[in-house]
Amino acid sequence: MNDLSQIPSVDQILSTGQGKSLVGIYGHQPTVDAVRDCLDLVRQDFLKSGSEVPDLEVLLKMTADLLDDRLKPTLVPVINASGVIVHTNLGRAPLSGAALEAVRNVSSGYSTLEFSLETGGRGSRLIHAESQFQQLLGAESALVVNNNASAVLLSLTVLTRGKKVIISRSQLVEIGGGFRIPEVLRHSGTDLVEIGTTNKVHLFDYEQAYSEETSAVMRAHSSNYAIVGFTSEPKIGQIVNSAHEAGLWFFDDLGSGAMLDTSPYGLKHEPMVQESLAAGVDLVCFSGDKLLGGPQAGIILGRKELIDQLKVHPLARAIRADKMALSALSATLDHYIKGEALSTVPVWQMISADKQAIKSRAEKWKKALKRGDIIEAQSMVGGGSLPGETLSTFVLALDVDHPNQLLEILRSGSPSVIGRVEDDRVLLDPRTVLPVQDPDIINAMQLAWSKYEK
Ligand SMILES: *Cc1c(COP(=O)(O)O)cnc(C)c1O
Repeated sequence: MNDLSQIPSVDQILSTGQGKSLVGIYGHQPTVDAVRDCLDLVRQDFLKSGSEVPDLEVLLKMTADLLDDRLKPTLVPVINASGVIVHTNLGRAPLSGAALEAVRNVSSGYSTLEFSLETGGRGSRLIHAESQFQQLLGAESALVVNNNASAVLLSLTVLTRGKKVIISRSQLVEIGGGFRIPEVLRHSGTDLVEIGTTNKVHLFDYEQAYSEETSAVMRAHSSNYAIVGFTSEPKIGQIVNSAHEAGLWFFDDLGSGAMLDTSPYGLKHEPMVQESLAAGVDLVCFSGDKLLGGPQAGIILGRKELIDQLKVHPLARAIRADKMALSALSATLDHYIKGEALSTVPVWQMISADKQAIKSRAEKWKKALKRGDIIEAQSMVGGGSLPGETLSTFVLALDVDHPNQLLEILRSGSPSVIGRVEDDRVLLDPRTVLPVQDPDIINAMQLAWSKYEK
């Protein structure tokens, strides 16, 4: 067709069988808009370059593609074969089955989020998970907020606003996403006192900085980098004792919040929540979705008199946790209380995964794909914990001429597969792929390979 008058009307397109089915899938208004936009394009092309007016079938296909493109969700699941366990860009910790079930249970209807079944009156959302932290860790008090960044901001605002807080220069860390400890301190109205040097800080550095205006000493776990070589810092217990003797609070931003020991798995020991509490810190805060292996949350544990102040601060309302996070967190903590976290919390299943089991999964992938080599490589814990520390693993390595192109094809599949390139090879690490995803990743790899070869 090469005459503008031959362009069908919007109604003509919508009244076809396919047009009606598009309306059924995408709704009336989005489909009408998409048809109009397609017809506009066709008209413009015709006027500009005299291109042919496509027939009805092609117009319907254009409309369907446009609708698919416009209404595709941007937040979709991917298969993480990168070997980074707590991958911030991929959503950090996957949730356990029980945590997912709890979210579903609590969110598909109404819940006791802020309701007391005893009195029939108002309850507090701040109690959820608190007794579990008390039971599990012997914490006096607990508060769960939206994420750890907000937990740090709230804690510092209440503890140290208008006062001085002491921190070592080796801990002036940028976590990522623009979260810099010195800037957060400034935002919370705190006067930052830096002490020591980048590589060394001594107890006397702390003690010399104490003054009338000081309210707290703080530690920020240098979670995403390591200072190696000629370094030293006092043990946390020593700093806590010294601060307490001077009548100061001690605030600990622990970051990853490990509640199990990482060292049995060939990793360095990541500081644990239990150790901070045992050292006597007044407040410790950490993320829910790093090594705890739960939902996004910021958890603050410590002295009741301080947590009580945090709970009633206006900022606490602005950063409160929602019912989905609270229910998932509670279910995750249950795994720890029952002593089954290693075998039920995905992050810990991945950390403690048996290397031979990983190897046999990689071999299964290789067999299904009929190509690649099984080689030893390194997985990473990630999520701003254990920088430079790796877990020895086996991966499927694909030696191809254009590794980045294959990586891109894997990403564009459905589901998307996220791998990595090392030494010009595409590496796919079974450690971070949930075992239930094996059929999906095999499928996706086969499809990607057939596209790559074309
Ligand atoms: C990750 C991290 C944060 C930020 O936690 P979010 O849960 O991402 O808000 C703050 N401090 C430290 C030391 C961290 O490692």
